[in-house]
Amino acid sequence: MELKAMFPNLNVMWTRWSDYEVTTFDHVEYLVPAEKATPLAYDCAEQAEQLVADALELGRQLRMGTPDKNRLCAAFAARHGLLGLAGVNASIWQGLAGGGPLSASLDSRQYGEPVDELNREFQKLYYHFLYTREDVLPPEAPAVLLDLDGALHYRLTGGLVPQLIWEAHSMYEVLRLSYAMLMTQEKPSLKVCKNCGKVYYNTHAKSEFCGTKCRNYYNVKVFRTKSK
Ligand SMILES: [Zn+2]
Repeated sequence: MELKAMFPNLNVMWTRWSDYEVTTFDHVEYLVPAEKATPLAYDCAEQAEQLVADALELGRQLRMGTPDKNRLCAAFAARHGLLGLAGVNASIWQGLAGGGPLSASLDSRQYGEPVDELNREFQKLYYHFLYTREDVLPPEAPAVLLDLDGALHYRLTGGLVPQLIWEAHSMYEVLRLSYAMLMTQEKPSLKVCKNCGKVYYNTHAKSEFCGTKCRNYYNVKVFRTKSK
């Protein structure tokens, strides 16, 4: 089931900035909106499936140890916004938050999230995904069993036609629950490209490639191998 099927009125307003950069506060690196960036408020649940695929692909690249990790996280944030970690994980942040970017209000230019924590979150999601595909964890994966959990705030409206409304507070919650729903669907829609290994979202059962370029490239490769 997809998020919008379960919660038809779902609308989670979120702020994304046009550009992000890394800054240091109290010896910790944070991803924050760049100086001249402009804000855009949008519904981050509108394309929750794309959000999940982008987060998994980022987790995959971070896991491979890309030297570009800050740039990739900034590009993700410019596309979707920061996760909203300060709101969901308050207990962890107490030591970090004193006057730093995490203690600013979520939609402000001052708000930022620690680069290391973002890395951990994206990789954790990707490890879970990997585990469902291979049933074996790579040795560097976190030692804890890879269950993901979260709390769900909902409201059932009164009146003749009660409606179930999910009161999501952050993009992080949207990402996690949307991922959970996609992973428990009968037909898998989160796929891994047969050519380049990229994680992408496609509901067609037969889809095997992230795009036509990869499909063509792969077919040429197979053809050449056969004709040798
Ligand atoms: Zn591909």
